[in-house]
Formats: sequence, C-alpha cells, structure tokens
Amino acid sequence: PIRPREQLNAVDSVCPYCGVGCALTYYVDRERDAIAFAEGRDQPGSKSRLCVKGRYGWDYAASPQRLTVPLIRVDSSYPKGPLSADVRGDNDHDRGRGGGGGNRSGGKRGRDGRRKPGGLVDYDEVLPHFREATWEEAMDLVARRLKEIHATGGPGAIAGFGSAKCSNEEAYLFQKLIRAGFGTNNVDHCTRLCHASSVAALFEGVGSGAVSTTYSDVVNADVVIITGSNPTANHPVASSFFKQARRRGTKIVYVDPRASTVSEHADYHCQVKPGTDVAFYNALMHEVIRLGKIDREFIAARVSNYDELARTVADYPPERAAQITGVDADLIREVARVWGEAGSAVIYWGMGISQHTTGTDNARCLIALCSITGNVGRPGTGLHPLRGQNNVQGASDAGLIPMFYPDYQGVEKARERFEKAWGTSLDPNRGLTVTEIIGSVLKPGGVRGMYMLGENPFLSDPNINKVRKALSALDFLVVQDIFLTETAEFADVILPASSYLEKNGSYTNTDRRVQLGRKVMDPPGQARVDWEIIQDLARRIGLDWSYTHPSEVFDEMVALMPSYANLRHDNLGLSGKLYPNADPEHSDGTVVLFDERFNTDDGLAHLVPAQWLPAKELPDAEYPLVLNTGRLLEHWHTGSMTRRSFALDTISPIAEVYMHPKDAADRGLAHGERVRVRSRRGEIELQVRISHREQQGNCFIPFHFREAAANLLTIDAIDPYGKIPEFKFCAIQVEALGVT
Ligand code: SF4
Repeated sequence: PIRPREQLNAVDSVCPYCGVGCALTYYVDRERDAIAFAEGRDQPGSKSRLCVKGRYGWDYAASPQRLTVPLIRVDSSYPKGPLSADVRGDNDHDRGRGGGGGNRSGGKRGRDGRRKPGGLVDYDEVLPHFREATWEEAMDLVARRLKEIHATGGPGAIAGFGSAKCSNEEAYLFQKLIRAGFGTNNVDHCTRLCHASSVAALFEGVGSGAVSTTYSDVVNADVVIITGSNPTANHPVASSFFKQARRRGTKIVYVDPRASTVSEHADYHCQVKPGTDVAFYNALMHEVIRLGKIDREFIAARVSNYDELARTVADYPPERAAQITGVDADLIREVARVWGEAGSAVIYWGMGISQHTTGTDNARCLIALCSITGNVGRPGTGLHPLRGQNNVQGASDAGLIPMFYPDYQGVEKARERFEKAWGTSLDPNRGLTVTEIIGSVLKPGGVRGMYMLGENPFLSDPNINKVRKALSALDFLVVQDIFLTETAEFADVILPASSYLEKNGSYTNTDRRVQLGRKVMDPPGQARVDWEIIQDLARRIGLDWSYTHPSEVFDEMVALMPSYANLRHDNLGLSGKLYPNADPEHSDGTVVLFDERFNTDDGLAHLVPAQWLPAKELPDAEYPLVLNTGRLLEHWHTGSMTRRSFALDTISPIAEVYMHPKDAADRGLAHGERVRVRSRRGEIELQVRISHREQQGNCFIPFHFREAAANLLTIDAIDPYGKIPEFKFCAIQVEALGVT
C-alpha cells in the first residue's frame, strides 16, 4: 500500500543523472525502507521540474543484483572480462530481448528461476569465478598488490579512474590517494570522454574550464546557438528553459547533424554534415566580420589575436563552407546576420562539438565567435558547455584530472603548494589520461595496476576490443562499484560500494551550482560508503587520514580551491550555491563570469584560429555510412543504473540503430529488422529504427547497451589537446540479417 505523503519521510537531495542537477525530494516509507516517490523541488536552475530519469529512475538502488560483499577472483585460468560472443549480442538472453522486440518475458533464467535482466552481466556465469571475502582480507589484498606493483614498476605503474558519479569529496579523496599515496598523476575520469576538449579550449581562451553563464540565463538572451547537443534527451530540464525562452522571444539557432526534437523549436536549423563544425563557425565569423557586426570596442579592450583570427576566417566564405558543411550559403549568411545584430547571445554546446579529433578546434571557434561580437560577461551572453554527468564539473574541479590539482592548479606550477598541504612529495610530471592509460597498459613499462572507482570503461571507452586487451593484461585491477559491471568482470578484487542514495556529499552541476546530496537509506549488506573505502585503502598504504564526515573533506578542498571560497556544507542551503560566491549566507552566487576580465594571465580572451580538418576515418565504398554515438532520454551512460530501473528500462528496453529512410531502403531494410553493423574494429547486431531525424548517410547508435555495444565500433583516435576520442564519427557498414 502507498502511504499518505504525511506518513512518509521527506529527504531533500539532487537528481544523480545529468549535469542539470535538478533539486528533488525523495519520499521514503521507513517501514518498508523504500522510496515511495520523488518530486521536484524549487531551485533556481530546475524550478521543481524533473524529467523521467529523476522522477522514476531511483529503484536501481534496491535491485537484488547489488553487490553486498567484497569479492576476490579465485580462478585465474578463467578468461577475464566478457566473452566476445556475449558483447556481440548473440547470447541467449539478448536474443530473447532484441529479437522479441524488448519483450520483458524473454531472456535467460538464473539458478533461482528468476528472469535475468536482459543485456546485463550474467551473474551466474561470472560469480563462480570469485569468492566472498571479508573487508579486512579484500582491503589487505588490494593494498598489498598495489604496493608491490608500485615497488617493482614505480609510480607510473599505477593508475586510477575515478568517476563523475562520485561526490566532490569522493573525487577529491580519490585523486589525493593516487597522487599522495602512489606518487603519480595518473588519475582521470570520464570528463576525458565528454568535454575534455571544451575544457582545453576554454582554459586556453578564457582561463577557466567552467561555464561563463547558466542555462537559465537564456531568458536574457536575444539569440542562442545550441550546437552539437540533443538537450531534450540529455539535459531535459535545461531544454525546457530553452523552449520557454523562445516563447518569450529568444531566437534559437540549432546547429546539429541530427534533426532532434529541439530542431522543431528552433528558428533556424543548420543541419551540418558531421565533423564540419570548424568550417561552419569560421564562415559565420567571416560573415559577421564582412557585415561589420563585430564589437570593435570589446575586441580592442578584451581580446588578443583578433587579426590572425580574421585572416583565417577570410578563407571561409559561405559558399566554401556550404560545400563542406552541406548548409545552404544563404542560411549561413542569415544566421550570421542574426547573431551579429543580437544585443545579447549565448552558445550552449554538447558533445557533438567536443567528441571529435577536432574537438578543441570546434570549441575554439565558439569562443572566438562570442568574443568578437562582445557576447561574454553580460547577462544573456556567454559560453556554456552543457556538462553530461551529474558531477563531471565537480569531479574536474576537485582535481580528478592528470594535469591539474584541485581548482585547475597545474601540476607543474602548484606542486609545492600541494606538497605542503598534503605533507608529501608529489609527481612533478603530468599524468596519463583515460585514453592514454588504456594504451599504456599494452606497452612495456606501462601501467600494471589500476583502481577503478565507479567507471565502466569496457562499455564507455572507444574501440573496446582494445580496452578488453588492456584490462585483461593488467597485473591487478580493483573495481569499486555497486553492480557487477562489464569492467568488474576483469577485476581481481571487487569492492561493494554505495549508491548515490546511500551517502552524503556535494555535487556541482553544469551551472557551477554546488548542492548537497543527502543520504536516503543505508547501503545494502556489507556495502560501504565510497569515501570510507578510499580512506581505508589510504591508511593501509601509509597515509595518515582521519576524516570523520564528508564536510571535513569539503572544508579541506575549499581551503585549497579559491573558486569554492566561502562555501561550506552548512551554508549551501536547500538550493545549493553557485561559485564563485563572496557571501553564500546572503547570495546565490555569481551567474555571469568575466564581466571585467577573463581568467587568463593578462585578463584577455585569447583567440586561437582553427583550420577545418576532416574526421580521421571517412566513409568509403566498403564502409559507406558515418556512425554517431550518444545517449537516449531514458538511459544513462553504460546503463548499469537505468537498465535496472523498471520504468526506464520498460520505456527503452533495446538497442537500435537509427537510419535515414533512404539508407534503409537502399539496403532493403524495414523498421524493426535485425542488422549487423560493422566497422574496422568490430561488429554488433541490433534492430533498425527508421528515423527522419538522421541525415542521409549517417546513423546513430546509443552506447548504453552491452548486447549491442556501440563502442565495439568506435575509433580510438583522439583530439591532440583534450585527448578526447572521436565518438561522433567513424565509418560503418550495415547489412540485413534477414530476421526481425
Ligand atoms: Fe535528473 Fe537531468 Fe532529468 Fe534533471 S534533467 S531530472 S538532473 S536527468
């Protein structure tokens, strides 16, 4: 029975699913120790709104598949990691789901007779190769093996992947453990896979990796460009602010290869060919300059390198850009005029900009377009990379990246400061990134031991056949997670961790809003809170840590992070606070940055011109289609949480390849038919979805589904600056399997 609201226990927290960070309240039935429902809560950035994930996606925490006991591998002869047939999608339970059109009655049954969730790790197959252990035994083994590898291979033999799912405090402690405990900067997280190139360009251009204004500031803009983003699916509540702003008169320019639903709310949709963003934005700047719509005063006072930029974009007249991008030259001229005449304008961008080998160049162009038109530093103007995971901003702020200590203090420049603060000597060199660490494992003298906190690179990283080789080749892997993920299948030790609902901590959303997530229930079985596990390991390897609450960790962070100055757990309130914030007791914080100067050494915006370069792997006769990967509204990343949420998995149960009707017809494919999709790196089998939202010649596959793992296909070529992979472009072929 559902109890009346007044008999339920209300816990104010934050949604764990995306960078929007909607405020919500969980209503908990304490007698059943279960959440009854969730409701949006008022906060400036969410105004009581929730999307389907926030409203219904919390039951994963009560899944019977939660890890509740530490596990140690017993069978070293068993091949580590998922079997190749398993992730090709042709195992029994996947056929039950995929072939049955997502029929929930399909699927293999476990020893207990219960149907196993489709597309998830087969616990019955994997668990016999592990044995249960006490925490004491498991942690002793982890500490001993990592210390042995450190002693024989040196600091560079150790690496850690943290996670943007973790709180700020957990991210801070994790990077401190790897740096202070193992003497290496080989620590990174999934920011490398989402906005690393945006951050590289922003640092270089404006001296800060965070957004310069909030998404709700859209209401003050005359014009916005939304580019490389499908906000309706990926930042749904932010998207509602965009749509509302348009009703009040803000013009929306949507620049994206896909005609996602936001294109229906846009005044202009520039459907660029994938991988042509630099040519498009250079042409916009060419036209803005030709029309004399630049802000000369702003350029003179606040911008450097304008002349070189102007010379570069002079080579991109709209006619040339039209040939490269496929966007009509007149439409480019019209959009340039609208942008140039706007009194205030913002650019919001997603991973369609960042996940390219030219991701940093793409973002450089956006920074330049805003800067030459004076659209930074005032309400309704600015630069906003829409951050993907709920705490990717906070985890990056907290130093979970190999080239920066907390608050983006460079490892070369700030080493002495952190050596003094942490009382130990630190690695003088930058560490390896996520993508470099995977490559390093396969090289002599590379990484041999890894600590994986909440990441699942076997599904999230590009070219996962290479990831398989790397994870299999490690001498020792410890995985700390709440479920048996695909990556946990490679582990030597698995540590049962806590879900978001089972701990206290702070999280920083895409707007720079720092909010508190509050504990709703206890972790199941012997599972422990993540920061306590990190501290346990720290002590076992000789670090003198004695934190008793995340708020103490937060205080230490703030003392080392000027951007977070003045913030404390007890002054974040129910709505959180934006940073920077001079007076959190009385102010929500700073919405618009750079009103007087940029964060660069000379206070100027540094323009870096870019030439258009094609993607690394272009389509050809053998692989004639372009693959774009991304997310669906109902699922989140590698699906370990959302695929165990009944409502979300029911709405969106199967993997599909989205194809333009003509591409499908050319191959004789009908909607729902099963196909094999192949790239030079691997192949998957899944269903076809005929979609008018795709451009002819381009396909889209979400990366959430293990049984049709999109990253078996993707290329591991990376952007030279941000080291981000080209998830948005590789060449594929699609062929019918002759079954539906
Ligand atoms: Fe959660 Fe993002 Fe949806 Fe808000 S928009 S409810 S933060 S998933």
